[in-house]
Amino acid sequence: MSKSVFVGELTWKEYEARVAGGKCVAMLPVGALEQHGHHMCMNVDVLLPTAVCQRVAECVDALVLPGIQYGYKSQQKSGGGNHFPGTTSLDGATLTHTVQDIIRELARHGVRRLVMMNGHYENSMFIVEGIDLALRELRYGGIDDFKVVVLSYWDFIRDPDVIAKLYPEGFLGWDIEHGGVFETSLMLALYPHLVDLDKVVDHPPATFPPYDVFPIIPERTPACGTLSSAKTASREKGELILEVCVAGIADVIGKEFGD
Ligand SMILES: [Zn+2]
Repeated sequence: MSKSVFVGELTWKEYEARVAGGKCVAMLPVGALEQHGHHMCMNVDVLLPTAVCQRVAECVDALVLPGIQYGYKSQQKSGGGNHFPGTTSLDGATLTHTVQDIIRELARHGVRRLVMMNGHYENSMFIVEGIDLALRELRYGGIDDFKVVVLSYWDFIRDPDVIAKLYPEGFLGWDIEHGGVFETSLMLALYPHLVDLDKVVDHPPATFPPYDVFPIIPERTPACGTLSSAKTASREKGELILEVCVAGIADVIGKEFGD
């Protein structure tokens, strides 16, 4: 039997055996195809939650589904905006229905436990809406024991000591982390060949007014696309982030799905 934690690498019989009984946790990364500055590739938001899922699945009874490769439209104050070449986004309803469709299929296979691992801030409420529609549909069909945990992996970095190690010069907040120290450090730990630190643009943190304007004013986003500088990113910081996130999420799975 294949030992892979990736659903796509199993045969259907192997998958059927793993999910039988409904105890195995399915994990679904939800990402985006979005610019991440001059120094990183565009599928960071897929690669990072997938890698976190993989490590979690190696320590608990879980399988990792192929991630959703596209996400909701990049917003200026969290992702730089949807005006960059390459950034390729879904309408909210498309993402919502994709999530709903996948949950319905998992339920048909016998899965009853799902972790949705978000890698792109803008996806959050469309994931929640997809879950809500799916669970309502399943309830109408007589299935009322399907449980979903939805999380964004960066929310597990809460310990002030860890934050002080990552940002000795002071933490600026998650909202302007796009392409900054956090994501770049994780990429250096996991996919160093997809990062070119020489191309990091060292700019002051982006500042925005406390409201949004549509159509957006592209000049309000730093021209390179990142919202804060990744200059102090390092592989060591990435390894620390990974360790804390994987431990925290494995713990949540034990708590929420413990038998
Ligand atoms: Zn990102």
